[in-house]
Amino acid sequence: MTGRTWPAPVVGADTAPFWEHARAGELRAQRCTDCGALRLPPGPVCPACFAPGHEWVALSGRGEVQSWVEYHRQYHPAFPVPYTVVLVELAEGPRIEGLLAGGGTVTWRAPVRLVWQEREGHPIPTFELAGAGS
Ligand SMILES: [Zn+2]
Repeated sequence: MTGRTWPAPVVGADTAPFWEHARAGELRAQRCTDCGALRLPPGPVCPACFAPGHEWVALSGRGEVQSWVEYHRQYHPAFPVPYTVVLVELAEGPRIEGLLAGGGTVTWRAPVRLVWQEREGHPIPTFELAGAGS
């Protein structure tokens, strides 16, 4: 990790399909074919019933901010400050972290929507505040 290069996502056997869908602009999660629980991040077994079977289902990308951090100190040369990272509870239940883009004031439970940003060939989950009616 040198210079301004973005840290590449770590892709393993369980997460490779997630990133393939992300490159196609889709947010997908594993859904357990035994109990129906969604799992994100991907994993080898269901955290609810420990069954390995799953299918990949599309998620809306819409959710609410549950927490956030605004960085004013630079920890990586590819991340100029200030920037904000949000923890989003998706409408379907799973939580995911992402960068906040597009400005605006973040508040608890603010509605957001996912927009994939490409950085150096990698799809980066990014969220924008979703105003009323958008
Ligand atoms: Zn299950």
